[in-house]
Amino acid sequence: MGTDLKSVLITKEEIDAKLAELAAEIDAEYAGKDLLIVGVLKGAVMVMADLARSLSSAVTMDWMAVSSYGAGTQSSGVVRILKDLDTDIKGRHVLIVEDIIDSGLTLSWLLSNLGSREPASLEVCTLLRKPEAAKVAIDVKWIGFDIPNEFVVGYGLDYAEKYRNLPFVGTLAPHVYGG
Ligand code: 5GP
Repeated sequence: MGTDLKSVLITKEEIDAKLAELAAEIDAEYAGKDLLIVGVLKGAVMVMADLARSLSSAVTMDWMAVSSYGAGTQSSGVVRILKDLDTDIKGRHVLIVEDIIDSGLTLSWLLSNLGSREPASLEVCTLLRKPEAAKVAIDVKWIGFDIPNEFVVGYGLDYAEKYRNLPFVGTLAPHVYGG
């Protein structure tokens, strides 16, 4: 696996420290409130697990799976729900937890979909964001790291379903994806 990687972009230690910071802010923001955190499968599994364990308040957790239709690797913003929430979020404080925001089209759709269910509040926490790739402006309250417009893997993020279990975020060597 080591030779498939070009570089380590964000180490496990940096991720751990950042999630602890974000968790402290989230704890403060939702003090005294009932918070539901929603992870977007499959990429956000690691962030959800580690962020949730860093929170000192009791939260409930739910999951959504969506697929984004697009030409090739480009997300189109046309989204289909593969797995919906088990929870009715009307009147709930909801925090969407994402692994990465690229064009922002998927998240933008998700925000309007969940927003129409009348939650008491709806915010987003993402580990990674690619500012140069943004196609829509989204108000994201908590961002772990802004990264360059490069394809990354690890810590939940895959290339052809591989590399999700890497404990860090890295870039792939060109030979892996035929470059
Ligand atoms: P968006 O709608 O923001 O363009 O797409 C977001 C989704 O595209 C993410 O949830 C993720 O599944 C995928 N994605 C975007 N950039 C990357 C990347 O650099 N690496 C990986 N593995 N997936 C990415």
